[in-house]
Amino acid sequence: MSELIEHIVILGGGTAGWLTAGILAAEYQARGGSTLQITLIESPDVPTIGVGEGTWPSMRLSLQRIGLSEIDVIQQCDASFKQGSKFVGWKNGLPDDIYYHPFTAPQGFGEANFVAAWREHFSHLSFADTVCIQSQLCEQGFAPKQKTTPEYAGVLNYGYHFDAGKFAQLLQKHCTQKLGVKHLLDHVTQVVSAASGDIAALLTKQSGAVAGDLFIDCSGTNCLLLGEHYGIPFIDKNQFSINDRALAVQVPYRSSDDPIASPTIATAQDAGWTWDIGLSSRRGVGYVYSSSHSTDEHAEQTLRAYVSKSIGPKNIENISVKRLSIRPGHREKFWHKNCVAVGMAAGFIEPLEASALALVELSATSIRDNLPLAKTDMAIVAKRFNEVFCCRWQGIIDFLKLHYALSERNDTVYWRDVTQRDNLSKPLAEHLSLWRQRPPAQQDFIHGNDIFPAASYQYVLYGMGFKPLAHGIGKTSDRIDFALRNINDNIERARKYMTAIPTNRELLAHINQYGMQRI
Ligand SMILES: Cc1cc2nc3c(=O)[nH]c(=O)nc-3n(C[C@H](O)[C@H](O)[C@H](O)COP(=O)(O)OP(=O)(O)OC[C@H]3O[C@@H](n4cnc5c(N)ncnc54)[C@H](O)[C@@H]3O)c2cc1C
Repeated sequence: MSELIEHIVILGGGTAGWLTAGILAAEYQARGGSTLQITLIESPDVPTIGVGEGTWPSMRLSLQRIGLSEIDVIQQCDASFKQGSKFVGWKNGLPDDIYYHPFTAPQGFGEANFVAAWREHFSHLSFADTVCIQSQLCEQGFAPKQKTTPEYAGVLNYGYHFDAGKFAQLLQKHCTQKLGVKHLLDHVTQVVSAASGDIAALLTKQSGAVAGDLFIDCSGTNCLLLGEHYGIPFIDKNQFSINDRALAVQVPYRSSDDPIASPTIATAQDAGWTWDIGLSSRRGVGYVYSSSHSTDEHAEQTLRAYVSKSIGPKNIENISVKRLSIRPGHREKFWHKNCVAVGMAAGFIEPLEASALALVELSATSIRDNLPLAKTDMAIVAKRFNEVFCCRWQGIIDFLKLHYALSERNDTVYWRDVTQRDNLSKPLAEHLSLWRQRPPAQQDFIHGNDIFPAASYQYVLYGMGFKPLAHGIGKTSDRIDFALRNINDNIERARKYMTAIPTNRELLAHINQYGMQRI
């Protein structure tokens, strides 16, 4: 058998499988001149997870590179524009306890100490509202772009909220019709090993053996190849994340002109938090909670009570609830021999900050960019991939933990447990010590592999009311004048944008009817 990598087999047709297929095929198959083939096998008997509606701005570049039109994404996936997250009740649970983590970094970020300027001159405002216009625009229901802004371009940074099932269908259509990906609807029953220990082929119920050179395990939480076949251990992270259940519902809008929220709204509840995602056709709402702190019945009551506040108790009676279990953690390594796991097969912590699909994009682009010509170099690529992604998982865990560890809530056992700081990772504990003296900066992330930038840490830290030491501030490099100029500029820009930008609903209605300028 040739040692060249000529055939990639992807096991799994969820969002991870199709996104990975698209990212690889756009590079290797559609371009011509490459002999690489991609086959995706998807079981007709095992459903996809069916959730995962929030994405990061990175998705714009991924979709653009795959060659999908943004108009098709908006029109065919009931998509809307996501501009960040809005946190309600996380700090202390009081009525004014709201903060934003917008996708747009402060203007001039990294060039001045915006935190010092904010604390000295604008402490009556929230940090996000002071340094960035996006939170104010979101709060008023505005879109991140104008009707005349072309596809994938934005006045403000944005990602998407979309229907996960429709998104996977669109990716499937595009990958098979435009990018040459072969789709096999069949159930994999067995793994055939080569003498080297590599996977030689997957046996399917109807189509026999499907041989390949690289196997990408996108089989979801069962992790059939890396986990079941190779026995790569699953590393439990339940000491860092105690939310192990989720309930999800689809909620209709009350009327066709209800605002479409463009942040994901994350509201703290007594044993977890609810997400609220506005698509163009409906809302996707869910409750992530800890089964050690709530019964499933009480969790469902909490979710129904939350939904009922917006659509009334009568309208929730017929809404059916999807139940999911979460086992927070990830595989000890992600690439072993000629098999690499992507998506839920690699791991999952919890939906807070919606990093799972961003990690799929990063995994697929890393495979694309580092794919060796021959199997002989695969071990080198695998080793590096594992190092980078172990670091990325730890970064995700730390960033999520920050949202809980900084909370002052102690009103339920859940909040008393989840705010414990004795289980902070060493890097996070060290960061928090340093950040008492100066704000988070990109230089803090010395490995360069963290997926959350310093600006995100600042938004969460100061949104949660983190207090720096008074004497920790005041260097010439702070460039307070520069920061103040940018802040004042923001105030002016916010006023201007509010008269020039449509609401999220207006823009989506326009695109659904007329499309937008193609690039
Ligand atoms: C409550 C919750 C909320 C979430 N919210 C978000 C969010 O807002 N944003 C975000 O980025 N992520 C979110 N996620 C994660 C997101 O849902 C997943 O990362 C994403 O859907 C990718 O899933 P997947 O493709 O890895 O797995 P799945 O969707 O489970 O797909 C697995 C595939 O493997 C196939 N398969 C399995 N066994 C076989 C077999 N024997 N033979 C052939 N095929 C097989 C199945 O048919 C299926 O096609 C959330 C997750 C949960 C649990």
